[in-house]
Amino acid sequence: MNKITPYSRQSLDNNDIKSVVEVLKSDFLTQGKMVPTFETNVLKYCNSKFAVACNSATSALHASCLSLGLGKGDIMWTSPISFVASSNAALYCGAEVDFIDIDIFTNNISIEQLEEKLKNAKKNNKLPKIVMPVHMAGLSCDMKSIFKLSKKYKFKVIEDASHAIGGKYLDSKVGSCKYSDITVFSFHPVKIITSGEGGMALTNSKQTYKKLRLFTNHGIIREKSLKLKKEQWRYRQTELGYNYRMSDIHASLGNSQLKRVEKFVYERNRIAEKYNNELRNLPILRPMNIKGFKSSYHLYIIKLQKEDTNLRQKIYDAFIENNFNVQVHYLPIYYHPYYKNMNFKINLFPIANSFYKRAISIPIFPGMKNSQIEQVIKILKRVI
Ligand SMILES: *Cc1c(COP(=O)(O)O)cnc(C)c1O
Repeated sequence: MNKITPYSRQSLDNNDIKSVVEVLKSDFLTQGKMVPTFETNVLKYCNSKFAVACNSATSALHASCLSLGLGKGDIMWTSPISFVASSNAALYCGAEVDFIDIDIFTNNISIEQLEEKLKNAKKNNKLPKIVMPVHMAGLSCDMKSIFKLSKKYKFKVIEDASHAIGGKYLDSKVGSCKYSDITVFSFHPVKIITSGEGGMALTNSKQTYKKLRLFTNHGIIREKSLKLKKEQWRYRQTELGYNYRMSDIHASLGNSQLKRVEKFVYERNRIAEKYNNELRNLPILRPMNIKGFKSSYHLYIIKLQKEDTNLRQKIYDAFIENNFNVQVHYLPIYYHPYYKNMNFKINLFPIANSFYKRAISIPIFPGMKNSQIEQVIKILKRVI
């Protein structure tokens, strides 16, 4: 059987394997030194102040919502063109979710739509407590504009940067939290760097950091800080927290991978540039380059110029026939059966709806062979 080429995958080397084996031979498989080491190194890389490693980005997003006080009666807004984990985070907290339509060029939430929606929400007294922009495919949202609106309308900002470690926004790395309360990364194997499963929440606020630590560790406070003379084993649970901790096995892989994050992003950008050049004459929209933004290119999404689900299906089928496992990122979240009975006003999201009829993600990952890249280009030229 022929080997399947995925839309994205991990790139591991011997140092990655060695670092995991070292942890396996050490005294601590979890709650040892590797997790704090990994947290510190991600902080140094992103130039932010505090980090909490988690066992997934999903748990990091949930803990982030809890840490910013999201609960019953509150509303969170996010992008409909995202993985379900973005909006599920709010539902876990008992909060309501609503969506902001996307921009057809960036595939990120539209700042104009956000502003418009905020104006209306203010009139109706239904302002969101949190807005969660998603850096789609690795391209940062316009964070300065979102930050400005967050001050005016008093909401908190969580960046779902699951796609975007290694990306840049103006003069800072994604993860700097310069224009947000919290930034979350994913280390799932299809993302930029991997820890197997894993995620991390970054913040510049000490108070938010303490809450993140609390909610990801059963809501338990150790009483070390009290410097007890007796009963030094004491700990107290003060919140209903979760076991969302990352293990040292996972952290060692993540930490080893982090050394190559720039290389991975460089390689993804190199492949993207090749696609940009070769696909220039096809009637499609290619990913947008914005001056001052650097995408980490987790995904390379092409969009047909017109809605054409037949052609999109033909492209998909041609890839599958040739052993490429391409994907559509994403079905708008409100179309999932679980979300259907929440009665979203789907006609308020025309761009997201249109996006779904036009988009497909073609393979891009470090270690992709030139012959594979050429074949992708050939298939697209042939079918379109
Ligand atoms: C992958 C992903 C997540 C979830 O990440 P996990 O680490 O798999 O939990 C959340 N949001 C987006 C946008 C993602 O792509």
